[in-house]
Amino acid sequence: MSSDLLLITLDSCDAQLVAEWADAGELPTFRQLFATCQRREVINAPGFFGGTVWPSFATGLSPAGHGRFCALQASRGAYDSCKFGSSDIAGRQFWERLSDAGRRVAVIDVPMSRPSPRLNGIQLVDFLSHDGFFHPPIATPPDLYDEIASMFGPGGRDTCDEQWSELDSAEGAAAFTDHLLQRARIKGRLCEHYLRREHWHLFIASLNESHCVGHQFWHLHDATHPRHRRDVAAASGDPLLILYRALDEQIAALLDAAGSGAGVMVWLTHGMGSAINDYTVVLDEILCRLDTATGQRASGAFRNMKSSWYRLPGELRQMRAARALKKAVIPALRQSLLIPQRRSRRFFAIPADTSTGAVRINCIGREEAGLVARGAEYRAVLADIAAALAEIVDPRTGVPAVLATHFPRDLYAGPHLDALPDLLVEWNHDHRFTALQSPRLGVLPIPELIGRSGEHRNRGLLLDRANDGSALPLPVEGLASLICGRLGLSAAQIEA
Ligand SMILES: [Zn+2]
Ligand SMILES: [Zn+2]
Repeated sequence: MSSDLLLITLDSCDAQLVAEWADAGELPTFRQLFATCQRREVINAPGFFGGTVWPSFATGLSPAGHGRFCALQASRGAYDSCKFGSSDIAGRQFWERLSDAGRRVAVIDVPMSRPSPRLNGIQLVDFLSHDGFFHPPIATPPDLYDEIASMFGPGGRDTCDEQWSELDSAEGAAAFTDHLLQRARIKGRLCEHYLRREHWHLFIASLNESHCVGHQFWHLHDATHPRHRRDVAAASGDPLLILYRALDEQIAALLDAAGSGAGVMVWLTHGMGSAINDYTVVLDEILCRLDTATGQRASGAFRNMKSSWYRLPGELRQMRAARALKKAVIPALRQSLLIPQRRSRRFFAIPADTSTGAVRINCIGREEAGLVARGAEYRAVLADIAAALAEIVDPRTGVPAVLATHFPRDLYAGPHLDALPDLLVEWNHDHRFTALQSPRLGVLPIPELIGRSGEHRNRGLLLDRANDGSALPLPVEGLASLICGRLGLSAAQIEA
């Protein structure tokens, strides 16, 4: 049965790679889509990358509106972060507005979404998504999950970040690629089944394995990655290309199921590139060294733990036991972001998506023990940190470690602005650093990233079969009103 609008979302599927492979004839469906659809660049929140994309899509709000940027966040004024789940995301999901307006909707596996209990339609949450919140998956109506499980299996938690210890061998790579292909195919069949079952005003099919394959397998795709091994890559092939080809086939099947009269949007959410160094380990140390006013230094158990990690020889750090150890300490490392005594520091690192760095200023009137006055002093501290970060280079080559810094307070307005970092750091993920250096820092060794070999890049793309003549870049939070408007909702209904 034909649908009004089919939106296929491809989580972290890299638009640049897709365009190259489509041109080269590897992805025939994409090639067709590129030839027939309007292309619009989708702009994700600068400096935030992965942490805000999905909440901004679902709610139509900027990060200051929905308040979510990371899996661990501190409440206003606090120094310690705790889990930030999908129920903590503020704002209404746009498919609920469509449902209220009488539209029939299907929302299949949109990452980081919340279950919408009263929906004119169906919803599936965290069936097969990267890094989901709900285990087991949740559906609307609730008995839909039993029906799905009986036909397509139970779905299940993504374990891509736990399986990486086997991914440097051809066998391990092949097994994990097969696992991802299987998940992708199940999702494709499931979406096709429900798409054909009835007429939908909006059907959202989220295909999510492009996220896992990019994080885990960039080193087999990219021959310049330090972990690339030609023998393994020759045996395994390029897992990204293998998976992207499978997605291309599924898109073709979904386009067919939606009917030739259906509106079609294909959204490649945010990109992927290489990841080489573990910046999360050094940012707070950098900030400590810059904070000459309070002269804090990390001390005690934490410093010992971190320096022992540095002292492990490379081969040992690659061993499974050492990786397991690192994995066990990573949550603690990232949660406390390394250096305690945050109350007595003027600024410090806070947890962020691994692709980015986040800094909080200890503000008077906001933090419990604030030290920096809002206004001129706050601006001066921010400018000073940004200038110091811009000076950091690789001592061997002079290549800069920081590509850009962003101040969310200059970019957004909204009720949750104070929950966001005060400064975001866009790291250089393309160059291999062994140390960082600047006049104010001295030399600071930086460890390689263990585990993931791919990290996000801030590029998104919308392919839209309806050519409305608007080729202007679209902020990600504009997708909700674009879709609602396409389905006939008035501005008042979209805002409601
Ligand atoms: Zn990611
Ligand atoms: Zn994953």
